[in-house]
Amino acid sequence: MKKPVVKPQELTVEQRINNFAEVVSGYTEEEMLQEATRCIQCKNPKCISGCPVEINIKKFIYQLTQKDFKGAFETIYEKNRFPSICGRVCPAEYQCRKSCVFTPKNSPYASENAINIPLLERYVGDYARQHNLTLNLNFQPLTKNTTNYKVACIGSGPASITVAGELSAYGIQVDVFEALHTLGGVLSYGIPTFRLPRDVLHYEINLLTNYGVKFYTGVIVGRTISFYELKKTYDAIFIGTGAGAPTWLNIKGESLINIYSANEYLTRVNLMHADKFPQYHTPINVGKKIVVIGGGNTAMDAARVALRMQKINSINDGKVTVLYRRTELEMPARKVEIEHAKEEGVEFQFLVQPIEFIGDKDGKVMGIKCLRCELGEPDESGRRRPVPIKNSEFIIDTDLVIVAIGLQANQTLSNTVSELKTNKWGDIIVNPETMETSIENVYAGGDIVGGEGTIIEAMSMGKKAARSILQKFGLI
Ligand code: FAD
Ligand code: SF4
Repeated sequence: MKKPVVKPQELTVEQRINNFAEVVSGYTEEEMLQEATRCIQCKNPKCISGCPVEINIKKFIYQLTQKDFKGAFETIYEKNRFPSICGRVCPAEYQCRKSCVFTPKNSPYASENAINIPLLERYVGDYARQHNLTLNLNFQPLTKNTTNYKVACIGSGPASITVAGELSAYGIQVDVFEALHTLGGVLSYGIPTFRLPRDVLHYEINLLTNYGVKFYTGVIVGRTISFYELKKTYDAIFIGTGAGAPTWLNIKGESLINIYSANEYLTRVNLMHADKFPQYHTPINVGKKIVVIGGGNTAMDAARVALRMQKINSINDGKVTVLYRRTELEMPARKVEIEHAKEEGVEFQFLVQPIEFIGDKDGKVMGIKCLRCELGEPDESGRRRPVPIKNSEFIIDTDLVIVAIGLQANQTLSNTVSELKTNKWGDIIVNPETMETSIENVYAGGDIVGGEGTIIEAMSMGKKAARSILQKFGLI
């Protein structure tokens, strides 16, 4: 009989709800070995092609069964410099785990019993961090004096730091320019610490400085420094500026007080330390009847953060409700995040479409007028379209709303560079084979190209761009 997947330890709801501590623990060595030995080392391992950066999953799992931790680290590091980050936040159930032989064919996402590849990857990354394992990466014999080349990366999210990691391993000088005061992009300002502790994030990014990567924070390219100045100094530029602009519902009353975009709300908590109340007195309103609108990862993060914000501000009779236009089946958020949100007490109302925000005499939001929906035919995303039901209007009471219905291209840079071609949504247009933009030797990748995506997809685009840059320089 097949052994079931080894489940990780998690904080109980009582242990986690009053703080921002990491919820899911990593495997112990014993648990790791139990899980690694469930892998049947397939002849034709589909898990590898299921990983957007094609980590040799079969090999690193075998190395783990042999307790060859350095070897496993080398195997992963060759393809991905951020195992502790990806092991925590990659949507593996739609990627490597979905392709694992233990998931039945045509299943929309991974079976419970697929090998828990991300937790094994996390084990390796955490082991490397705890034991200060480093690697002297020099992938190819250098054919030229690569130190003559200089590359600038704009933004420090997963796409840019991947480019920096790939190129610096070839001895190229990479400088990263980040608008915020801290590195990591969404990993830093968006994803809460209970999913991705900041020591883990910063450790893996800072390892790049061993390869000579230099980071410049608080630099907005297009404002603080012009794109054209960088163009004069660097042999190639990579743009990884992400999709940081919120999408709004564009309904009446949306500018009322206490209606936040999820990005602003999460930034106030993650970067402005609202999670450290009372040590920090960050300007943020903490509602009692909070409503989060949306069904993706951002909505789940916002809801779970909002719940914790109520508790640390001693609001013990508060409530957080997620409104979503479709049903749970169509929610794009990771299943594990939906489960965690439910366990923690987040309530859900499905098939509901907000049509107007209602304000009180002081201009503060006090209610949301909504319509009930039913599911119609599938739309261009393949999911069944929500169709509002006539005369189904009702009002939900609220005192704080977080709008988390999507993100759009951050156009601060592209607005200042007229030669840079973008599409109607502001995403930068690239040659999909090379990731080169309409400007020669200027590349782009991540959410600024593909729209809101995933961390590993952004990394995969970064890898492709780095390869093209190396080819352009004649180094591979
Ligand atoms: P980003 O991470 O957006 O980074 C772009 C960086 O560029 C930012 O730091 C920004 O400040 C900087 N920048 C912008 N303009 C300039 C400029 N002009 N000059 C200098 N710097 C600039 N994906 C997953 O796979 N798993 C998850 O669990 C997950 N959870 C998420 C939760 C939230 C709340 C959000 C918002 C997204 C989540 N995602 C998740 C999606 C994922 O984080 C993104 O797809 C990914 O971060 C995109 O990477 P990127 O490098 O393209 O850009
Ligand atoms: Fe192991 Fe699953 Fe990959 Fe097969 S597909 S090698 S069982 S992780």
